[in-house]
Amino acid sequence: MSKTISILGSTGSIGRQTLEVAEQLGLHVAALTAHTNAERMEEQVRKFRPSLAVMTDEAAARDLAIRLADTETRVRGGTEALSEAAVWLPVDTVVTAVVGMVGLGPTLAAIRAKKRIALANKETLVCAGELVMDAADTYGAEIVPVDSEHSAIFQCLQGSAERQEIRRLILTCSGGPFYGMSREEVGKMTKADALRHPNWTMGPKITVDCSTLMNKGLEVIEAMRLYRLPLEQVHVVIHRQSIVHSLVEFRDGAVLAQLGTPDMRLPIRYAMTYPERKESPAEPLDLLACPPLTFAEPDREAFPCLALAEAAAVKGGTSCAILNAANEEAVRLFLEERVGFSDIFRLTERALAAVPAKKNPSLEEILAADAAARRSVKAGL
Ligand code: NDP
Ligand code: MG
Repeated sequence: MSKTISILGSTGSIGRQTLEVAEQLGLHVAALTAHTNAERMEEQVRKFRPSLAVMTDEAAARDLAIRLADTETRVRGGTEALSEAAVWLPVDTVVTAVVGMVGLGPTLAAIRAKKRIALANKETLVCAGELVMDAADTYGAEIVPVDSEHSAIFQCLQGSAERQEIRRLILTCSGGPFYGMSREEVGKMTKADALRHPNWTMGPKITVDCSTLMNKGLEVIEAMRLYRLPLEQVHVVIHRQSIVHSLVEFRDGAVLAQLGTPDMRLPIRYAMTYPERKESPAEPLDLLACPPLTFAEPDREAFPCLALAEAAAVKGGTSCAILNAANEEAVRLFLEERVGFSDIFRLTERALAAVPAKKNPSLEEILAADAAARRSVKAGL
């Protein structure tokens, strides 16, 4: 079980819920990071008294240093300081809750420092999953997933050590706010429409990813990397109620599932207490009050981002880094209302066609592919 934690991205949706869980479990919070939100960071520092607070935005760091002048907390600024928070000495567990590829460097640094990684930042595993998992093996660092589907699978796999025992993983998907619409109808959806998720309240980037189903595509890749399985063994089913968080089918035909209310504090808590379980104040799942649980095939024609991600997963190499970077840029442009909903797919597909993919990439090659994909999106406007 974790005792002292660092949270990268503490002001975000996962970060704030992690602080709630940390308070309930009585964990010591030693380091916090955010990007620009100095006001919320000040509140968090005054409450949790970490010894280190990082703002990756330099102006926000200067602002925070003034706000915290009367405290003992050391303030650092800049993206490199994320890695400082990731290897902060007293910390045993690093919660990676930043959004986007910026999480890669600090995750690798935390692995090298043999910290447990409570991994929410899926973009890191998508763009450099093999490197991250190999580093974790080399340094003996544990990676415990926070993403609800991967936490469900992780929980179902406790007690079954052998990969060969798995026939397939079944990831559930809420279907997002545009479930049931045609490709044409989906293409007309606006930022406000996309930010309305039926079951979860999350940061804006992942909320848009859920509406395109790119999130499920990223999660397919995340699952392939975490469990070192090919695409044929990772399936997606639509499950509108978000009660069954994912399932594992074993070679003997047994299927294990993890169920629970749609509440991210549950997988966050498990990543903190693993391998133990602790009493939780959360509302228990009431099966008799649950709506009927339904399962359906995803519509890859109306939501082509899912198929695009699956194709990148099969291609491997830097393809997933290109997919991820192009999607990050396209979603940013969509949130700025500079491109439409269907442009997210168009620009990502364009980048995958324009940037040549490399097999078995080094970290430098992954970073170069990421940069090239972002340039391709800008050129495609
Ligand atoms: P939010 O947008 O709510 O929070 C993002 C956090 O990262 C904030 O603390 C933000 O700081 C910080 N941040 C933003 N940009 C940068 C940057 N360029 N450099 C450093 N830090 C930055 O995101 P979520 O909490 O929703 O998601 C975080 C991660 O967890 C994502 O990878 C997402 O896919 C994953 N995830 C989220 C789930 C959810 O329920 N929210 C579920 C499963 C996975 P500031 O506030 O100052 O901008
Ligand atoms: Mg998820």
